[in-house]
Amino acid sequence: MALLTFHGAIRQVTGSCYLLETRDGARVLLECGMHQGLRDQEALNGSPFPFDPATLDAVVVSHAHLDHSGLLPKLASAGYSKPIYATEATSELLELLLQDSAHIQEKDAEWENRWRARQGKPAIKPLYTSVETDKALKLRVPVPYGKTLQIAKGIEITFHNAGHILGSAIVEIVIHEHGLSRRLVFSGDLGNACTPLMQDPTYLEDADLVMLESTYGDRDHRCSQATEDELLAILQQAQTDGGNVLIPSFSVGRTQDLLFTLGRFYHQGKLPQQAVFLDSPMAIRANAIYSRFRDQFDEADRAEIQRTGADTLEKWLPVLRCTLSPEESMAINRFKSGVIIIAGSGMCTGGRIVHHFKHNLWRNECHVVFPGFQARGTLGRRIVDGEENVRVLHQRIAVKAKIHTLGGFSAHAGQNQLLDWASHFSKRPELYLVHGELEKTQALQQALKERFNWDAIIPEQGEQIAF
Ligand SMILES: [Zn+2]
Repeated sequence: MALLTFHGAIRQVTGSCYLLETRDGARVLLECGMHQGLRDQEALNGSPFPFDPATLDAVVVSHAHLDHSGLLPKLASAGYSKPIYATEATSELLELLLQDSAHIQEKDAEWENRWRARQGKPAIKPLYTSVETDKALKLRVPVPYGKTLQIAKGIEITFHNAGHILGSAIVEIVIHEHGLSRRLVFSGDLGNACTPLMQDPTYLEDADLVMLESTYGDRDHRCSQATEDELLAILQQAQTDGGNVLIPSFSVGRTQDLLFTLGRFYHQGKLPQQAVFLDSPMAIRANAIYSRFRDQFDEADRAEIQRTGADTLEKWLPVLRCTLSPEESMAINRFKSGVIIIAGSGMCTGGRIVHHFKHNLWRNECHVVFPGFQARGTLGRRIVDGEENVRVLHQRIAVKAKIHTLGGFSAHAGQNQLLDWASHFSKRPELYLVHGELEKTQALQQALKERFNWDAIIPEQGEQIAF
């Protein structure tokens, strides 16, 4: 019997963290994610780990998104010094995402300390620093998809393509103890088969226990053609209205999907805008990693890119203008109409998108397209929920621009895709639903019951099970 403890992303979508322990004493941490969204959630990032990091034998990370990997530097500074296993592309993306996160932590602490100094309060330390992040990054061990590797006594892992972002994996873990084997499959974040560039998630058939994400457990996305048509109609409308199009987007994943689709419009002669600004240094660097691992793209999309002779996403979309420096970013404000601006952060909790909001959100003729999930408590969610004015950079700004959400661009599987993936297991495994807001997870639980008469469990935060 092994023990599995649900430490994070339980009844919520961030802070993924699961601890696996065997009776033989092996201890493996699956995911080390950051809490994001509401302030009291984010405050959890500062609390000590509910286990001793120095006693872990291995850490396994399903993909590079910070809600799955963002506390790795903190883990390393708290005494963890063994390997961090991830796929090859994830290992590269981790460097980009974690260093950026460290930079934000340092800047936030610096900002707060200026304020605290004026109040006569003691200074605080950043959640982690670039130096601590380097320490964590040195522990990375890249593992190709499909290769089985022993990572601790009696514990083997195999990564399978999850089709969510580049390098994303479904993690298959086999535990051998006293002549018995048990198989645990963690879905990670499962991709939406309709999203461009990524392959479809791999189906697995054999498991004793499955942990399944449920971000979109309550709904299906529109198919890719409908989503493309919808995006094109918005771009055309914005052009008619004489405004800009703002797209808050995650630097890794969503942005590359969008660039692929905008490139397709360009090659079809349909793109109405004269320029697409990619105003995110991190997304620009992520593009380079995506282009390098393009052999992992969906075959048809890869062939479509190759037919134009392009070998990078920049060449695929010739009107793309990548703005690395703050000066180049500010210069975008000169364009009052006719451009698309893609900028982070995806949930508008910071980054350059908020500056573009300041210049465009109050203008009737502008359009804002949300291509992804907006967690509760974020600025993005408030705008999507229809608030008439919002606080942006210490100012109240009226929301007059037209607001659109494009679910089809979600990098997460919708309800039917989750059910389909789960239905491929031959013997019905024990099924635990994680990584979803409670009502969405409950909707998936109900659908599993109705469709397959399958009783899935929604664990409690901190719950421990033996299996
Ligand atoms: Zn993710």
